[in-house]
Amino acid sequence: MIFEILTLFPGMFVSPLRESILGKARERGLIQVRVHNIRDYATDKHQITDDRPFGGGEGMVMKPEPIVRLLDALKTEEPPPWVVLLSPQGRVFRQECASRWSALPRLALICGRYEGVDERVAEHFVDEEVSLGDYVLTGGELPAMIILDAVTRLLPGVLGNAASAATESFVEPVLEYPQYTRPREFRGHGVPEILLSGDHAAIHRWRRGQALLRTRLRRPDLFARLELAPPDVKLLRQAEEEWAQSQEPPTAAVKDGD
Ligand code: SAH
Repeated sequence: MIFEILTLFPGMFVSPLRESILGKARERGLIQVRVHNIRDYATDKHQITDDRPFGGGEGMVMKPEPIVRLLDALKTEEPPPWVVLLSPQGRVFRQECASRWSALPRLALICGRYEGVDERVAEHFVDEEVSLGDYVLTGGELPAMIILDAVTRLLPGVLGNAASAATESFVEPVLEYPQYTRPREFRGHGVPEILLSGDHAAIHRWRRGQALLRTRLRRPDLFARLELAPPDVKLLRQAEEEWAQSQEPPTAAVKDGD
């Protein structure tokens, strides 16, 4: 898969693309990441890429021409990329999105800066506008790296263990069960006995119950989307009972004014 990154700060991508799984995926040719400097597509001699907002107001707005000229250059090559603008005003990026994009041959990610990008780019020159969440960052570079990471790990051959992408959180909207490793006892805290039992079927059931319980407790929004089959209902109930027993016994309620 080919990623085309459009940015004013290409240097930001150097180290994240060199390390670990992304680095290996590139070395092995599973992904190709082309980082383009928007400034190279500015037409004036000072290579200006931003300007003051029409109508007044704080800060600078990224000009449309350099970005669109760069997109035009990318589109001369086949197949044309699917074009995404990073923006806090877009639809929120989710696993479904990563999964949909992982089937694309080519994905272009436009990283905004300053007060953002001239609105005409979003309106007429991109396929999707995507936000990483309800917070404002200084630029689209970190969001682009997150997307690159989330999409790359879904590509065939990228993760050593093909199963691990499938069992993790959000393939189904369920959080993953808790994981433990050695030592068996750490600063007085043990691990759930069942994980040491060697009974794989029982471990599997316990993990499913924990996954459902966590989702219900931590992400009621995801839990509401689940349609639980009867065996799941049973595993969840068991996990809930176990959880209720592990909680502190309720202390006497403190009355107002006490
Ligand atoms: N003035 C804009 C924010 C601009 S932030 C507004 O209020 O909507 C500058 C750039 O950072 C944006 O153009 C975008 O590319 C990136 N950015 C900031 N927060 C983001 C988020 N939550 N998700 C995706 N991109 C974001």
